[in-house]
Amino acid sequence: MMKKLKMAQLKNFTQFDNHEAVFEITDQKSGLRGFIAIHRINKDKPSFGATRFWRYPSYEDALRDALDLSRLMSYKSALAGLPYGGAKGVIMSPSSHMKLRDKNEILKAYSKEVTALNGKFITGTDVGLYQHNVTLMRKYSPFMVGLRSNPTKFTAFGILFAIEVCVKEAFDRDEIAGHSFAIQGVGKIGFGILKLVYPFAQDIFVADINKKRLALVKRKFSKVKIVKPNVIHKQQVDVYVPCALSGVLNAQTIPQLQCKIVAGGANNQLENSASGDMLHKKGILYAPDYAVNAGGLISVVDEYENTRYNEKRIMARIMNIKSMLQKIFDESKALHRPTHEIANRIAEKQFNERSAVQG
Ligand code: NAD
Repeated sequence: MMKKLKMAQLKNFTQFDNHEAVFEITDQKSGLRGFIAIHRINKDKPSFGATRFWRYPSYEDALRDALDLSRLMSYKSALAGLPYGGAKGVIMSPSSHMKLRDKNEILKAYSKEVTALNGKFITGTDVGLYQHNVTLMRKYSPFMVGLRSNPTKFTAFGILFAIEVCVKEAFDRDEIAGHSFAIQGVGKIGFGILKLVYPFAQDIFVADINKKRLALVKRKFSKVKIVKPNVIHKQQVDVYVPCALSGVLNAQTIPQLQCKIVAGGANNQLENSASGDMLHKKGILYAPDYAVNAGGLISVVDEYENTRYNEKRIMARIMNIKSMLQKIFDESKALHRPTHEIANRIAEKQFNERSAVQG
């Protein structure tokens, strides 16, 4: 069942930004509970945003995440030069150890609700979902993307390109060989980046709360140093690469950072705008998450727009992340303002121009 939430139910959430539509979705039989939030639409084009499957402490936490992440998707799409609005699906996992059969039932029910939106919302995998989940979901909804290509591979490439720009900016070096990294979370994205930097990195520290993921890392990358999740951000490294959940850059963690650069895949890394200001004052180069982790979005948009897979075309679009990030850094330096502020301004300008054209 899908219920559109009313303004009165949303206006007290600070994450609410006059979203286009927010739906609560439930299905008693499977136990599905979640939200689909559509932040902005651009004319008759769909809004894009992957689906997160997570054990939220409360209904409100899940709704907050849906509002926040859908908004972020609009910014990400704008900076990647894409003409689509932002959206997000959030499913509340009823237990931390779900049986595959039960999870599949929830995903089936969810996919049917996505279909009911008639193509206004296009989605795929985020935290807690994997490609085999999307393969199943696609059977119940044609609006699932990320099957023809692996979006996480492209997200990881985009982050690698962004790290190259950061290393040039912070160390005036043209290559990232010999630099050190601390990767928080070695799920799909963190593991993807680890694979890319491992052959030439000096030191790599890794943390995850999932023992299986750490065992995999140990097996495949023997030289990686595994540290506890609560100290990963404190490592003395060149690049801190957050690839887990939101809000990891905050008033508590920022004073403890010993890196020169923060560039990673996690969405909404800054707890708030003041966290971005703190990083700037501390002289840490922050690559705004939504500017650098758009590779997956770019690849699924490409899949949506074209009938044939073409890796070269996707990679060419992902390379644009480099020029956008350089533009953000240049303006940040020229205006002496934090990078997140500059990135927000560039993205918002694009929205405003779009709405002006729409009238
Ligand atoms: P994932 O679920 O595959 O991986 C997340 C990993 O983080 C898991 O291994 C989990 O155990 C670990 N983790 C959770 N809490 C942790 C903690 N406190 N300390 C250390 N590790 C912790 O998810 P993913 O797809 O790799 O996404 C990671 C981040 O990147 C998310 O914020 C996601 O929104 C963002 N992102 C993903 C994509 C994509 O293409 N999948 C694209 C853009 C952004």
